[in-house]
Amino acid sequence: MALRIIIGLVLTAVAAAAAGQRMWWLYRLSRAGQPAPERIEAVRTHPARDAETQATEVFGQRRLLKWSVPGIAHFLTFWGFIVLLLTIIEAYGDLFSRRFAIPGIGHWAWIGFGEDLFAVGVLAGIATFAIIRLRNDPKREGRASRFSGSHTGAAWLVLFLIFLVIATLLIYRGAQINTGDFPYAHGAFASEIVGHWLAPLGLAANKALETAFILAQLAVILGFGVFVTYSKHLHIALAPLNVLFSRRPGGLGALQPMRSNGKVLDFEEADPDTDIFGRGKIEDFTWKGMLDMATCTECGRCQSQCPAWVTGKPLSPKMVILDLRDHALAKAPYLLAGSDEARDKLPDAVKAEAERPLVGDEAANGVIHPDVLWSCTNCGACVEECPVDIEHIDHITDMRRHQVLIESAFPTEASAMLKNLENKGDPWGMGEARRLDWAEGLDFEVPVVDGTIGDDVEYLFWVGCAGALEDRARKTTRAIAELLHTAGVSFAVLGPAETCTGDPARRMGNEFVYSMLAQQNIETLNEARARKIVASCPHCFNTLSNEYPQLGGNYEVIHHTQLLARLVAEGKLTPVTPIDEKITYHDPCFLGRHNRIFTAPREIMEQVPGVRSQEMHRCKERGFCCGAGGARMWMEERIGKRINTERIEEALGTNPDTISTGCPYCLVMLGDAVSAKKSSGEASPTLEVVDVAQLLARSVRAPAPASAPGSAPGEPGAGEPGAGEPG
Ligand code: SF4
Ligand code: SF4
Repeated sequence: MALRIIIGLVLTAVAAAAAGQRMWWLYRLSRAGQPAPERIEAVRTHPARDAETQATEVFGQRRLLKWSVPGIAHFLTFWGFIVLLLTIIEAYGDLFSRRFAIPGIGHWAWIGFGEDLFAVGVLAGIATFAIIRLRNDPKREGRASRFSGSHTGAAWLVLFLIFLVIATLLIYRGAQINTGDFPYAHGAFASEIVGHWLAPLGLAANKALETAFILAQLAVILGFGVFVTYSKHLHIALAPLNVLFSRRPGGLGALQPMRSNGKVLDFEEADPDTDIFGRGKIEDFTWKGMLDMATCTECGRCQSQCPAWVTGKPLSPKMVILDLRDHALAKAPYLLAGSDEARDKLPDAVKAEAERPLVGDEAANGVIHPDVLWSCTNCGACVEECPVDIEHIDHITDMRRHQVLIESAFPTEASAMLKNLENKGDPWGMGEARRLDWAEGLDFEVPVVDGTIGDDVEYLFWVGCAGALEDRARKTTRAIAELLHTAGVSFAVLGPAETCTGDPARRMGNEFVYSMLAQQNIETLNEARARKIVASCPHCFNTLSNEYPQLGGNYEVIHHTQLLARLVAEGKLTPVTPIDEKITYHDPCFLGRHNRIFTAPREIMEQVPGVRSQEMHRCKERGFCCGAGGARMWMEERIGKRINTERIEEALGTNPDTISTGCPYCLVMLGDAVSAKKSSGEASPTLEVVDVAQLLARSVRAPAPASAPGSAPGEPGAGEPGAGEPG
């Protein structure tokens, strides 16, 4: 008896020392990163919200369950390990007393049943994982496998270790039944089956098996515990922490302000010698960034949904996190060395790793290739999918910020856009004089704010640069204005006083230009006493509603599809003219995924008589990007297939008469792809891409009289507003 206690305790002490040492090393490494006091503060001030997040994300496995088969397998494995903590207590207890039972509950049959049920559940879970891995073998599937680039060898080892945990558990419990040491009289059905198999071996053999497999069970669990701290399965310990310290309501929507040394960076007071501008070295990441890296499970869900990866570009959000992690671990001895002298004594390989630039091409041996960094559209599919709340967009943006602000290294074609923003206030450089061109020819006057917005004006209509200056988007702007006028909603526009919200500059990494434009707009809006804003561009909508509050601009912002859906529901707009078409709706990323506005555009389409909606396979939370976000609209797409082509091919799969959307960027990108498909004969010459507002405007208008040829349906000026008057 004494020997088994000694072996059990020695195994425990060795494992605790090995795992503890590794965890301490990892903790010190995370401390080499920047502080993130805002994360601690957020947890301190919102305990109820965080408890709910832990309940849904960690214990409820909400995101994992979105992928039903692997989600259920993970749910079973996760809860199996929680329930099986009881069996670990029982195994340790058995070391000291063969008749051990957990005080109070240790003889309850349903506990024994529950333990066995979850043990079998874990076996089913790992069998499912094994099948999923075999079917998605990256050696066979290449880039199409979500495990491409993951450490698959370690994953197989972990599955085997989990199998050993359950196998040793059932064998020692089966032996216990035969020796009379098992705490449960009945209920443990799987252990009873194993006991039945072992019974013919006799009492002495079963006693030996009981001792041997209890020690084996502890050895496997302890070995697994140590291995976890050296592998991707560290997420078992870190995922709850990472979810706890994630920003809320999530890594979508607003970008975070630039922070240096734990404080929001003030460009006027920033000191280039002591302040950090974005992320130029691995130690510029905060401890939360490093926690993200250590928590990645390598599941590849993010990679499988990334439009850049899917279209053959080198960007994989998973590999960004893994490459940063590998670099952080390789550079760690350098970061943790206490002095220059200690650093000098480090192996050459560590010193070489420390010299690597964070972003650089093959010649520079960079950790992240520039083509990777600049391929991101900020679509948010990675953040949406990640089961452990990793904030990919924040990391990519922070690295872009350093490249733009310190290195002046970014795709050259985007420099014209930045210059135009600085000098003319819009990405095309058309200037303020053109901002009201869209309203020419309307048969009502569009009020322009002069001084403050009058009490009789309900909404400030934020037109946006594309809505004001881009030909196709102007049609949407006119449709919205017509509809608001028809519904009797009072609105005004800023006209020449409106400038770009700064979104393209910010997503590009130029926080300086962004804050300049944002402050100017906030000043204008505050002077005008703007309260309620309706925005037609989801990028403007996101910036105005989610990012301007960071700079003190607080407004009630609504997207035009939300307002129009409400006006239809209230009977202030009545779609009457049938549009007998099959229409597929494309979710703009910054409207849908980033801001959860999925239903309003669909509700509008439902109300238009004759419309037959057909969803694309990738829709709503899984919507596929058009390729324009993250300032990609102003960069060449040189690598792989064009993202807008990929999306349009999916749309064509629904055989639509029309493709609808709710974003001027999407309108342009998808429109371009449709034009290309028409030229190659792959799309019908009548196929068009329109905003949902244009569809509604067509239906609200009376049918165009036969005597009005040349007024294409839905075009500005076609028909007369008024048919859908209130009532
Ligand atoms: S935001 Fe979109 S494009 Fe960027 S890495 Fe994530 S999934 Fe890929
Ligand atoms: S970043 Fe998240 S989704 Fe992507 S591989 Fe890691 S854990 Fe999975």
